[in-house]
Formats: sequence, structure tokens, C-alpha cells
Amino acid sequence: MIYCDYQATTPLAPEAREAMLPWLDGPDGTGFGNPHSPHRFGRQAAAAVELARDRVAALFPPGGRVIFTGSATEAINLALRGSHPPGDARPVAVSAIEHAAVLDTARALRCPVEILPVDRAGLVDPACGLPDAVRLVAVMQVNNEIGTIQPVDALARRAKELGALFLCDAVQGAGKLAPPAEADMIAVSAHKLYGPKGIGALWIRDGVVLEPLLTGGGQEQGLRSGTLSPALCAGFGVAARLSTELLENDAQHVEKLWARVHSLLPEWELNGSADSRWHGNLNIRREGLDVARLMSDLRTIAFSAGSACASGSGRPSHVLSALGLSARQAKSSIRLGFGRYTTLDEIEMVAESLNAAAERQDMR
Ligand code: PLP
Repeated sequence: MIYCDYQATTPLAPEAREAMLPWLDGPDGTGFGNPHSPHRFGRQAAAAVELARDRVAALFPPGGRVIFTGSATEAINLALRGSHPPGDARPVAVSAIEHAAVLDTARALRCPVEILPVDRAGLVDPACGLPDAVRLVAVMQVNNEIGTIQPVDALARRAKELGALFLCDAVQGAGKLAPPAEADMIAVSAHKLYGPKGIGALWIRDGVVLEPLLTGGGQEQGLRSGTLSPALCAGFGVAARLSTELLENDAQHVEKLWARVHSLLPEWELNGSADSRWHGNLNIRREGLDVARLMSDLRTIAFSAGSACASGSGRPSHVLSALGLSARQAKSSIRLGFGRYTTLDEIEMVAESLNAAAERQDMR
């Protein structure tokens, strides 16, 4: 089986797994402590959590704090709901190609939501119109379906000029690109950067005040009550440290894979910009392709028909529709995602299998 779905989730780095194990101890060890307990078991676990926090902080710009959450979805909810004063009817603006975590949460805020369009390449115009009295702008760093890299720093500066907060969903960019330096809040997820599932983080710029979503024991500086998992924190911390250390190597490896696979698929049309893009994402289409049949023909390759959340719903992807693709074009698109552990041999095999399966369909 070849794994080509790195945008849905990344394999756990062996180093991250190793770092988690001591904190999953049974009764014979000391690593099972509650990090919020004052005794030695607890203090030891708390030290592991704080070390992890420092490592995760290196993914972000200076001048802010890291709040651990259960996922990026929770981090985004904390950012959007926690910064929304009850009854405030000022609008928020979000891009048309945001993940559902942003789009659906913004729509739940009981305030007007302005949708910022993207062009045919899947990019938000940095000079796009923002609504009067806009309170918050949310634009992602890298799109999860088509990999396009948005001009988030320019958009964040525009938001600042208008007195609005800027939230960046950096789930697909963290550990791969420099952080969005001008954002006020940044959401990330460990399992997209070779860490464990079940943990994310919200970075909050100093001076930005939020209300908690979860109340209770007052953990995470009162912003996210609930006992943290030291094992998940430790795994996230090591995954973040590795991503920072391997940033250049990972990017060079992905460039090689991209160049190879792209050159082997000349009959396929690329969805979204080729240049302003994370090259570990290849979203392509082929006229008249029956994607369901392709997937059942290629059971030894794990890839996606759009985003993992949207696939299976039967609806064309909102991202591909926002680019101006017809429903038919969107439904004949697939997403290949690759990264640190993908080999050149694997990507060549994937391209050959895709071509052969698509040609069999053409011959019908
Ligand atoms: N934002 C983007 C761009 C994503 O790709 C995802 C996951 O697919 C999320 C948010 C949600 O992340 P999590 O799985 O940590 O809730």
C-alpha cells in the first residue's frame, strides 16, 4: 500500500512516537502523572508539557503564547468564538476556500460573514475589498485541497489597518513554511506535521484577549480547562522540533517528488496555482474521469477525491467550485499528498498506475 494522502494526516514520526512512550507508563513507572498535580509525578509530567510547549512555540512568531487544544478545529473555535463579544454584529471576513472548521464556525457566530473570493489559481487578492467595520479576518496559510499559499502577511496588515483581528489557519503550512508573522492568532494541528492525532494548538499574540470555550479547572491559562495529555504534548513537541530542523530537507525532498510526479502526468490538468503552492499537494483532474472507479481500481494507493472531509459527501468540493471549476470538472479531480517518508519509486509507481487506470477508462 502506498500512502499519498499527507493532507489528511501524516505518518507519526518515529522520534515523536519514542518521545510519547515514557508518558504512557503503567503502575510500575512514574510517567503517568497528572501534569496539574503538585507532587513529583505531576511536576515531572508538567515539565514534559512545558518542554513541549517551548518546542511548539518555535513554529510561531515571537511575542505570543501557545495554548494546547484537542485539535486544530478546537483551536479555530476558540479563536473565532472566544474573540466574538456576545451581541457584536460587526462582520467577519473569511476566504471562500477555508476549511469547514473556519467556514462553519464563522457562520455560527451570529454576525454577518463576508466571503472573500479566490481567483482561478485559488488565491485571495491581497487588495480584496474588506467590509466596513470588519472585526476579524480569517485566511488560511496553505489550502488543504489544492495546496495554494495565500498572501497572509499582506492580508493581516490590511486587517490591522482596519482595526480587525487576523486569524490564520496554518494547519497545512506549519512546519513547512515560515509562520504567518503578522497574524494575531494561528491554529495548528500535530497530526499534519508528523505528530500524534488528538492535539492541536492556538498561538495568541500578546495583548489579544479571548474568552474560554471550555471552563472548569482553569488549565491552559484559563483558556482551555481539562487535563492535558503529556504523551500527546511530548509527541507534538518533538514533531514540531523535527519539522523546524528538517524544514529545508523536507522542502527539497518534496520538490524532487513534485518535479517527478508532475512530469509523469502530462495528460492531467493541475487545479490551482503551480507556483504559489506547497508542492507536496498535487490536485489534478482529467476530463470525464470517474473518480470512484479510479479509486476502486487503485486500492493499493491511498489518495483522496478532494478533501478527506468532503469526499464521500457526493457534493463537489467548495474549494474547486470557488476556483470556477464546473461540478463535472470538480468531480473528475483527485488529490495526491506526499512528504517526508514518500520515496521517488513510490511516486513513480503511483503516476504509472494512475495513467494506466485513466487510460483504461478512456478506452471504454
Ligand atoms: N484546517 C485545515 C486546513 C485542515 O486541513 C484541517 C484538517 O484536515 C483542519 C483545519 C482541522 O484539523 P484537526 O484535524 O486538527 O481538527
